[in-house]
Amino acid sequence: AVGVTAPVLNPACRGDVVGHVQDATLADVETALACAAAHAPQWAATEPRARAALLRRGADALEAELPRLLGLLSREAGKTYPNGVAEVREAVDFLRFYAAQVEREFDNATHVPLGPVVCISPWNFPLAIFTGQIAAALAAGNPVLAKPAEQTPLVAAEMVRLLRRAGVPRAALQLVPGRGETIGAALVADSRVQGVMFTGSTEVARLLQKSLAGRLNPDGRPVPLIAETGGQNAMLVDSSALAEQVVSDVVASAFDSAGQRCSALRVLCVQQDSADHVVAMLKGAMAECRMGDPATLAVDVGPVIDEDARRSIEAHIETMRMKGRAVFQSARGDAAATDEGTFVPPTLIELERLAELEREVFGPVLHVVRYPRERLAATIEQINATGYGLTLGVQSRIDETIAQVVAHARAGNVYVNRNMVGAVVGVQPFGGEGLSGTGPKAGGPLYLHRLLAHGPDHVMVRALDAAGDDDGTGVVAPQAGAAAALRRWAEAESARSVVDACDRFATRSRAGSSRVLRGPTGERNLYSLLPRDAVLCLADDEVDRLVQLAAVLSVGSAALWPDRARALHARLPAAVRERIELVADWTDASVKFDAVLHHGSGEARLAVLARLASRPGAIVGVDGLSPGEASIALERLVVERSLSINTAAAGGNATLMTLQ
Ligand code: NAD
Repeated sequence: AVGVTAPVLNPACRGDVVGHVQDATLADVETALACAAAHAPQWAATEPRARAALLRRGADALEAELPRLLGLLSREAGKTYPNGVAEVREAVDFLRFYAAQVEREFDNATHVPLGPVVCISPWNFPLAIFTGQIAAALAAGNPVLAKPAEQTPLVAAEMVRLLRRAGVPRAALQLVPGRGETIGAALVADSRVQGVMFTGSTEVARLLQKSLAGRLNPDGRPVPLIAETGGQNAMLVDSSALAEQVVSDVVASAFDSAGQRCSALRVLCVQQDSADHVVAMLKGAMAECRMGDPATLAVDVGPVIDEDARRSIEAHIETMRMKGRAVFQSARGDAAATDEGTFVPPTLIELERLAELEREVFGPVLHVVRYPRERLAATIEQINATGYGLTLGVQSRIDETIAQVVAHARAGNVYVNRNMVGAVVGVQPFGGEGLSGTGPKAGGPLYLHRLLAHGPDHVMVRALDAAGDDDGTGVVAPQAGAAAALRRWAEAESARSVVDACDRFATRSRAGSSRVLRGPTGERNLYSLLPRDAVLCLADDEVDRLVQLAAVLSVGSAALWPDRARALHARLPAAVRERIELVADWTDASVKFDAVLHHGSGEARLAVLARLASRPGAIVGVDGLSPGEASIALERLVVERSLSINTAAAGGNATLMTLQ
């Protein structure tokens, strides 16, 4: 339909009209959904190799278009050219990474896609995240309805044009631009949509969870929601760290892309003893940052995306000033170059406590907190207590300190002695936990499996084998003893199906394993699968409940059982009972779990989804199973962690300083 068009403005210079966008209407949404649903069987039946070939062709075309896209990324999204190059490269990587995975592993007989998938992306990576979502959904065999962010529809339209020119059928990939509250919400609410991939704010992700809680897919399972959301990312710096290196990594992590990266550093925690020195040097480096129109090559820091963003960041800075916190702002650049756009200069705010920060501030604002040496562990706890878990940095020359931080970190991506932005597809699979996202990680080996209605067994085993080399540091799932005790008990009770489940899960679980991913020299990149903390197990039937328990124990996690399973609990051996907590009312917000297994009817499942959606906190996924079904997807019961270590960190080996 022909509708009204609106101008898209350059955030660095509001007088520059980059292009025009015509938002989709609700009638367009209906047409797009009908086309996607009609085309779904055909796209699903297309050979994985053929789908991959189209994505690869799209990647080649994207590379060829780099110069033109750089201009568009700069004018529409305020990206510097180096950021633009990195973004195009990331989009290309996503296309090739998922293409390679389906070529290698996928078979239409065993890998059954979901059906129409909605992809909702943010403006801060208008090409890379937009393309990453689409590439994954298409590779797995799902037709896509792509809803770009309101601020960046032009680069999205370019990408869709490019993929269609590469041969992706029109009905397999449709662009549906428009407002989130109307067009995005209408797409997500439609029963033809079988999966939703979302990257954006934690608040909107919760709205989508609520909307999806109202229905099930045709096979009676919950509609998958992959949500990648915000963070409250910290870096811990002890007094052994080399200040020069810390400062360059902090400036890159906090101010590159004007701080508009979900991974960006928000809170720098510096050991008191070296804080004055580090902060002084940091202010000097900030004073050298050049702010202005990113189309100028000398510019380091471009604009924030729009006036709303600028106002909300400024309001936060003002609130902190009023509270009496020291605020430092500085950036080189002439006023004329920034007058026309929405700019916020790099800002440093010294806080007394981390808890003063209530929400993610999405811009070039770095908070600094000082900690006394003996409070390192407490500081890590405070970071974890924010409930977010996206990125975390640590800078130290003491191996024990690094090991302590890494062991207690609750973040999806941990960086040692380097900056903490710019995760590379396949090298640092990216995504958070808790309030920061549901997983699986983008650019990791499990992602495509979440986009299937039915998949093969042994997903974890295959994912790890494909991901990289075994470095031998993998630990056995810490609770292997409990799993073995359950099996012995089931054998003694002649509970054959439970024994079988224990055996099957034992061969399929790889929780506790790590792999070294291939990456650049000077870096060591590890990918690990770790048990989730606690899995809420809901079932009416005793055998179903025990099969759930076998799955939970096989990955080394703990189970939460409703009180009414008390009698069964009492019959189990002590080693198993220790791994089960009985709860009176799991809907209570104080009861913590990070996955749900549900055996039961569709009606009961909808009631569970509704209650979960009204609990505060992180989005928790539900694996829905029919009564008697024993094929539990173990990969949903683990979290993925990426660890990236700069093995070429400057400054030498401080172990020498700590020798007795
Ligand atoms: P946002 O949540 O406001 O918008 C994201 C997308 O959701 C947009 O396309 C928007 O139109 C759509 N949307 C908004 N309301 C909707 C609704 N009710 N129904 C359906 N769709 C709706 O986020 P933003 O401001 O565009 O992006 C910034 C946020 O994204 C930050 O919080 C950042 O941390 C996060 N982010 C996370 C990652 C990650 O990988 N974890 C990556 C990039 C950005």
